[in-house]
Amino acid sequence: MRANIHPNYKDIKVVCSCGNSFETRSTKEQDKLHLDVCSKCHPFYTGKQKIVDTAGRVEKFKSRYGSTFNR
Ligand SMILES: [Zn+2]
Repeated sequence: MRANIHPNYKDIKVVCSCGNSFETRSTKEQDKLHLDVCSKCHPFYTGKQKIVDTAGRVEKFKSRYGSTFNR
């Protein structure tokens, strides 16, 4: 069998700066990994939230100033 085809995977604990932590498999030497962002606090989500908020403001602005911005 090709026993050595895979490197030594092991379970490591990943800790994010937002406080979220989860386990994953890695070939890294250390058994702990620190992230600045994870799937829970990734800029995609916060950015999306900002975009939604901005869109809301735009709608508010449109409704306030009426048809000028509807063309
Ligand atoms: Zn996070």
